[in-house]
Amino acid sequence: MKQSTTETRLYCPRCGTIHTIFRKTAKQKKAGHYKNFYCYKCTHTHNHIELKDFVYTKEELEEMVVKMKQEDKY
Ligand SMILES: [Zn+2]
Repeated sequence: MKQSTTETRLYCPRCGTIHTIFRKTAKQKKAGHYKNFYCYKCTHTHNHIELKDFVYTKEELEEMVVKMKQEDKY
């Protein structure tokens, strides 16, 4: 059986880098999910915001970072 993978984007709340990762479709999580991920730019592992295939504006991304900080997930 063919395994399909989906492209997922993880937004680094610290430097703003968007990392593209691939994961199995079955394991897709909702957009806005936090994922602990290593940012090569920050050279640090911390929560990233999962963007999936939505296109976000800079304001929306900033709002999500604010929410993340409020939830103490930053
Ligand atoms: Zn970063």
